[in-house]
Amino acid sequence: MEKNPLEALEAIKKESAIAIASIKDRLSLNEVRNRFLSKKSELSAIMGMMKDIPNEMKASFGKSVNELRKYIETKVKEKEDEFALKELNEKLEKEKIDITLPGRSYERGKINPYYAIVDEISEIFLSLGFEVVEGDDITDDKFNFELLNIPEDHPARDMQDTFYISQNILLRTQTSGAQAHKMIDNSSKNELKPIKMICPGKCYRRDDDDATHSHQFGQIEGLVVDKGISLADLKGTLELFVKRLFGEKREIRLRSSYFPFTEPSVEVDVSCSHCGGKGCSMCKGTGYIEILGAGEVNPKVLEMCGYDPKIYSGFAFGVGIDRLAILKYGIDDIRRIYTNDVRFLKDFEGK
Ligand SMILES: [Zn+2]
Repeated sequence: MEKNPLEALEAIKKESAIAIASIKDRLSLNEVRNRFLSKKSELSAIMGMMKDIPNEMKASFGKSVNELRKYIETKVKEKEDEFALKELNEKLEKEKIDITLPGRSYERGKINPYYAIVDEISEIFLSLGFEVVEGDDITDDKFNFELLNIPEDHPARDMQDTFYISQNILLRTQTSGAQAHKMIDNSSKNELKPIKMICPGKCYRRDDDDATHSHQFGQIEGLVVDKGISLADLKGTLELFVKRLFGEKREIRLRSSYFPFTEPSVEVDVSCSHCGGKGCSMCKGTGYIEILGAGEVNPKVLEMCGYDPKIYSGFAFGVGIDRLAILKYGIDDIRRIYTNDVRFLKDFEGK
């Protein structure tokens, strides 16, 4: 027998009250919502029974059904808000940051004196219109020796014994190879442009490491090639470089020397910053400290690299980066530069 609509409504009221009271989580909440509020719910079906209700009672019956629906909706909403708040609190609790803990500090690295001085020297030469080229650490016999006028039987090779990767491939003993590359690049394209370049980089030699020697060291080589370049241009450039790096009061002195890739060749000394040239233990009583080797580019080197020495001339120089850093910053042991001891780097900072 079909249920009386009024009785059915009463039954839903009771069942929904029990169901609402037993909501514990989102799952049971959804069950209540589906059971009492969906289109297929008993509460929706009950409206279809309206035809069985006497006319005078239709309005109040409809009102009761709507009130019950509203009541269930409100309760479901209340529970839903309650769960949402609870979930939010749990999430906040889980992600809570303990602001009483001390923060983690990140130590910043310090610039190594090697790179500090490379930057400084590069800036000086850039301001004179030089180009900075790094070159390759691994090169071959041709670029490291032959093109620099050091053939296979040359005694200079003994002084530059290096690390060989194969018979022909080696770690460079000087950065001059980059200069030969530059000249050959230009001459092979038939663009004999003037060259003004420096090449800072690491070089390698088979040396036993001690306070003044290292198997790995930094070198900056410079090359200028153009028409009418003389030793006077070399002296002027180096004088300016030394004064910018060590101070206006420093003087340079050129002494005759020998290198295979320059002719004539000179050793360049800088007046001692410690005694101002009077003579002290730092300069071994001479008033000067040797800093670099230089000279006019050997015509044979120009020729091998495609520049006609009857038209072009040039000068070249090579200076040890570590040596300059030692002199400028007063570092007592060359090994400090590459052992990367943060205590040393901290001491160096601000010099
Ligand atoms: Zn001195």
